[in-house]
Amino acid sequence: MEIIKAERAGFCFGVANAVEKSFEILRGRKDNTFVFSYGELIHNDHVIGRLEALGMRTVRNPEEICLLTEGHPERAVVVIRAHGVSPKVYEMLENLGCTLADATCPFVTKIHSLVREQHEKGREIIIVGDREHPEVIGTNGWCQETGIILSDEEQARQFRPENNNMLYSVVAQTTFSKKKFTKICEILKKSFDNTIFFDTICSATSLRQEETVKIASQADLMVVVGDKKSSNTRKLYDLSSEICDHVLFVEDAEELNLSQVDKYMKVGVTAGASVPDWIIGEVIGKMSEINPEVNNQEIEIAETAVPAEAAAVEASVQNTEETAAENSEQSVSESPVSEESKEAGENDSFETMLDKTLTTISSGQIVKGTINKIDNKGVYVDLGFKFEGFIAIDEFAEVPGFEPDQLNIGDEVEAMVVKVSDKDGEAILSKRRVDNKKNMLLLEQSFESKTPVTVRIKEAVNGGVVAYLGSVRIFIPASQLSERYAKDLTAFVGKSVDVIITAFEKGPKGHNRIVGSRKILLVADREEKEEAFWSQIEVGKICTGTVKSLTPFGAFVDIGGYDGLIHMSELSWNRIKHPSEVLKVGQEVEVKILDFDRKKKRISLGYRKEEDNPWFDAENLYQVGDILEVTVVRFASFGVFVNIAPGIDGLVHISQISNQRISSAADCLKIGQKVMAKIIDTNIPEKKINLSIRDVQAYDPEPKPVELDEEGNPILPERKDRPRKKDRGDRPAKGDKQRTRKDAEETYVADQASSMGTSIGDILASKLQPAIEVNAVLETETEKTEEAPAENAEPEA
Ligand code: SF4
Repeated sequence: MEIIKAERAGFCFGVANAVEKSFEILRGRKDNTFVFSYGELIHNDHVIGRLEALGMRTVRNPEEICLLTEGHPERAVVVIRAHGVSPKVYEMLENLGCTLADATCPFVTKIHSLVREQHEKGREIIIVGDREHPEVIGTNGWCQETGIILSDEEQARQFRPENNNMLYSVVAQTTFSKKKFTKICEILKKSFDNTIFFDTICSATSLRQEETVKIASQADLMVVVGDKKSSNTRKLYDLSSEICDHVLFVEDAEELNLSQVDKYMKVGVTAGASVPDWIIGEVIGKMSEINPEVNNQEIEIAETAVPAEAAAVEASVQNTEETAAENSEQSVSESPVSEESKEAGENDSFETMLDKTLTTISSGQIVKGTINKIDNKGVYVDLGFKFEGFIAIDEFAEVPGFEPDQLNIGDEVEAMVVKVSDKDGEAILSKRRVDNKKNMLLLEQSFESKTPVTVRIKEAVNGGVVAYLGSVRIFIPASQLSERYAKDLTAFVGKSVDVIITAFEKGPKGHNRIVGSRKILLVADREEKEEAFWSQIEVGKICTGTVKSLTPFGAFVDIGGYDGLIHMSELSWNRIKHPSEVLKVGQEVEVKILDFDRKKKRISLGYRKEEDNPWFDAENLYQVGDILEVTVVRFASFGVFVNIAPGIDGLVHISQISNQRISSAADCLKIGQKVMAKIIDTNIPEKKINLSIRDVQAYDPEPKPVELDEEGNPILPERKDRPRKKDRGDRPAKGDKQRTRKDAEETYVADQASSMGTSIGDILASKLQPAIEVNAVLETETEKTEEAPAENAEPEA
């Protein structure tokens, strides 16, 4: 019988590391401490049994730790197995105060970092693996449990993205079947663009699988050794079964039935990652009982792999370490040191695989990475698992306006690879080159599609300014800087402006001719705003604006790019002398569009509101017969004006003051005097209220003391006041009389108008005709009597 043993059968580096670490902790543990494995350390009852014999317990949640430590979790040392766990588990254990012994396989840790990074970049994570496998559960925790888990080709075929913009990054469970993973990737590739595939199957696993396939194709019988719960061992069994007709799956030598083996000439032996060498040795040893002349080389390896008594795992680890110390080259290949050697080989292999998918870079390639260090010399960029990139600080300084403190740790940068050193894991990068390339493309696009680009003006030169996009130079002629010719070009230096590229000519060695115009954009912007403004403006529309300036005739208000005028008469219902009595510059106001002229670009605005008009509700408030307390405010030759309420004045005709005939209201009343008066007539639309004082209480003139002449005789008024006929040369002519009365009319109208906040011109225009008619009456009355106008001849305002 020939036995072909797989070289890579048994413990992989990650499992060996976890087992060794656990034995170390158990050997050094103090009496009052507890040692736990968070989940079963490996899928192998023999090894677990030995660990438990030394005091290790398996727990699956923090509650169990509290229970088993009787409320003292801080006394627990918790071993994190090779499969790794999610960040939440670390947090929970740390919160409990446990001591952590992290035996997560470094390869698994790398996948955790990868998943976290890709997730942080906004990509969806697809994990190809067994949904229930602890490694998959742990890995999913590094993308906040948002991972999509696909276990076979059918699930991959069924999978549909939420939308077409989704970006996916695919990783695999380290122990997943390489063949299956390849098929799943092919299915996904056909269905989705923008998917990155990371072949994260551990090289230990894939090499073991490849070796198994190779041996199975030669063997008459395959013996697969390992725990039935072990996923990777199960895969070895499946692969062997696909190729070889006869396959046995045994956990140890005891389970091996020699009668199932002895009829085969060539027997292949492979084992899962959780099988210690001594168990493999036992199995091979048992088979050798059938035929002692088995392949010596294979048996020799098996014998050295198994300690003399094929004892416990701990002993195995210790003994092989000792053997290693004795410098036996053969034993080194079988001891834990040999596992480390394997590890190195596997590690390289695994990294090579990752490098292929992640960080294989070459000169000229454009790469992205995150800044992890900044110093005076430059910026250090993490490019993934293996390479660190370096960008000299000069590369950034070439960008006008750049300040080194704009760089932050964690920022993403894009740069071109200039030189790669695999040995040192370093790559010299150039940001300038990649920026230059991108910026030239952007400028060319702006030139072709007339789209704006933002550039920064660095200096004023003869005839214009020089601006930069990154390190690409753009000339902007002075005539194209603004809508009006810019005299002081230095005022633009240091500013970022949007321009349209009007000329783009590439020259040799970077001597390009690129010209920009800001004016084109400014003009277009203004025209667009104008169109938008005038298309929405309409009489009666209420707008919000800002008071820009005040003048003696009104206030200018900006209502969205245009200034409208609020005329004095539209500012207030009350009489004001200057707009500052109502508004101040900078004040936000609500105005009404009264009129506009698009051609002349003039807008008339109204500010005073109808509801603030004191005459607004006068119809209801003031009715004929009402008796009010009023204040004497102004005298007129035909009566007196009294104030009824703020903004509302009424007229008491001279005949309605006293029971006597009086020549002037001032004979009976004083300015500011409060008197009771009755409303005798109203014309609210024309803002007129006539009142009578006499109807409530007549005010008669005070009797004047009789003046005496030099001889002590009373001077009769007639004698005193009336000029003699011959002295009447200055008496006004008839036309003058009319003018005098008309003046009075106009004064009254003006008074009324100002008291009502209406323009004099408007009122005069509307009232001129009735006033003239009244004039005729007045004239007649004046002819009749010179003392006072008749009651009913009161002029209209
Ligand atoms: S199979 Fe690979 S990834 Fe998994 S524990 Fe072993 S060495 Fe680590």
